Amino acid sequence: MELVKIGVVGLGTMGSGIVEVIARSGYSVIGVDLGEKDTSYADLRIANSIGRGVAGSKITKSEGEAILSRIELTTDLTELDSCQLVIEAITEDLQTKSELFADLDSILGPDAIMATNTSSLSVTEISVVTSRPSRVIGLHFFNPAMVQKFIEIVGTVTTDQEVIDACMEFARALGKEPVLVSDRAGFIANSLLFGYLNQAVAMYEQKYASREDIDSAMRFGCGLPMGPLALLDLIGLDTSLQILDTMYRQSRDRLHAPSALLKQLVAAGRLGRKFGEGFYSYAEPNIPTVVADSRTPVSIESSVDSGITRVAVIGSGTMATGIVSVLAAGGVSAIALTRSEQRSTQLRESLEKSWSKLVEKGRISQEQKDDYLARVQTCVSAQDLVGRVDLVIEAIAEELGPKCEIFSQLDKFLPADVIFATTTSSLSVIEIAASTSRMERFIGIHFFNPAPIMPLVEIVSTVATDSEVVIRCTNLIHQLGKKPVQCSDRAGFIVNALLFPYLNNAIAMASANYASIEDIDTAMKLGCGYPMGPFELLDVVGLDVSLAIINTLYREFREPGFAPQAELEHLVTAGFVGRKVGRGFRKYWPQESTSRQGSEPRGPQEPESGQ
Ligand code: NAD
Repeated sequence: MELVKIGVVGLGTMGSGIVEVIARSGYSVIGVDLGEKDTSYADLRIANSIGRGVAGSKITKSEGEAILSRIELTTDLTELDSCQLVIEAITEDLQTKSELFADLDSILGPDAIMATNTSSLSVTEISVVTSRPSRVIGLHFFNPAMVQKFIEIVGTVTTDQEVIDACMEFARALGKEPVLVSDRAGFIANSLLFGYLNQAVAMYEQKYASREDIDSAMRFGCGLPMGPLALLDLIGLDTSLQILDTMYRQSRDRLHAPSALLKQLVAAGRLGRKFGEGFYSYAEPNIPTVVADSRTPVSIESSVDSGITRVAVIGSGTMATGIVSVLAAGGVSAIALTRSEQRSTQLRESLEKSWSKLVEKGRISQEQKDDYLARVQTCVSAQDLVGRVDLVIEAIAEELGPKCEIFSQLDKFLPADVIFATTTSSLSVIEIAASTSRMERFIGIHFFNPAPIMPLVEIVSTVATDSEVVIRCTNLIHQLGKKPVQCSDRAGFIVNALLFPYLNNAIAMASANYASIEDIDTAMKLGCGYPMGPFELLDVVGLDVSLAIINTLYREFREPGFAPQAELEHLVTAGFVGRKVGRGFRKYWPQESTSRQGSEPRGPQEPESGQ
């Protein structure tokens, strides 16, 4: 069937974007909202967006005018009577949507398709209030509708194949990538996204980390386009609460039980960016510029000297070598304590090689390389560090015993003011700190792999860590050109604690045969702008490493939803641990290169190599 004239009802965050996408693709579109204020507001938003397109030379002035001429905005629902397809994008509430669908049913021609942009409600339940459930479908656009390339097409048990085909074709005509899914709360993307967003709210509510640090951690640690709290503000906190409520009613999974803070913000009318206030405060409603408010943390002046100029790094594996490289390149003297002269030589050779490559590529000069090398020393005896360091960063094998042993040894002869840090990614920092007599000068400095490339560093303070130590270490990381975020000593810190439950949920979704791993990866990449889909990421990180992290989180939080999925355990048992062996969730034969480019989206944490 041919779709020529399209209607959109509800011209808020989503509806106004949907109208624009449709008009830009050459269709005539009629947008309807409740009042003149709503339609003029949508008119302004669309005109501004087209204006930006013209100013940025993405479209010509005459193209812009042609797009606007295809758009008609009204408050009169009956004007939709000649549309072949109407897309509803009103408030996420079943009762309100049902009433609208009943009205539309009496206005539209008998063959017209009625689509809902619901993010979580049952399309089937909406369809049964009409006389044509077979012509009702879900067309779930993503926010911002102009940008995100993905559309979930939600077919119910009664939707006609002809309707599905027409909508798939329509989505492609809009330049989108459609994926057909069945009617389940949250479909693919939101079902995976909202558990993670909700968990981030809980993390903020528990004052585990600041809103800025939670958001930065996910942006800089996982390459996500937005942090979870900023994203919730963009989605709208009222819409988000309704989505979580619906998902919780269906799943009864505690991960979806809306956090108390989210409810409170909605009750207080802080609905997010569209309102000018949500988790953050904005310059104006609908403007992305964040302004400082009473919850803005006092910024740590990066210009304030950390007072740390000499750092020892314990270990000679991937992480230790990377950290030495970051220190030396950042102007700090680094002494690597390794287990043998041979390992020391290997470490120096490895640094020399990687810096030579940078010289060849013109990224650094020969003089810079010489400077870096001059700042690196090695030793094989802990006593050689006496009088030569302000900070010790340990990066040996991820085992509690050896870590405690090396720290208790160093504790005996290094002066009491030397700061001790571990770069553990999963062990409890306080357990390691307790093996020393300087718990107040003990901290976690969690670098990500590869350290020279990954911008994020988590600064983990325990119940005993002095605030002065936290500030000095944070400043050091600033000075090294990295992005420090502060959090407390809890399994997974910020990034892994938010990332791995989401990855585990993606495995659960595929195991339940709701969607294929290809569709899930596509949904997260094109719907949410993630640099990698969950299965691509799991295969890159390594399924063995992922299982270990999920197990650590499960042991600490005892959340039933964190229990590792059986399929993950089976793949690990079979030795299919990801790209590094040529097979994980996908097969990679002939073996693909596992080397990671600077521009490649990266995972969180890989195993630290022990010295
Ligand atoms: P919104 O609050 O920004 O806008 C809703 C609009 O609908 C408002 O302009 C309101 O005046 C209008 N409206 C309400 N009842 C109406 C009626 N009976 N007739 C005509 N207009 C009516 O909401 P939103 O964020 O755009 O969400 C709309 C829908 O899209 C929801 O179902 C939501 O779940 C879904 N969705 C939202 C996002 C997102 O990120 N915000 C993403 C995908 C899908």
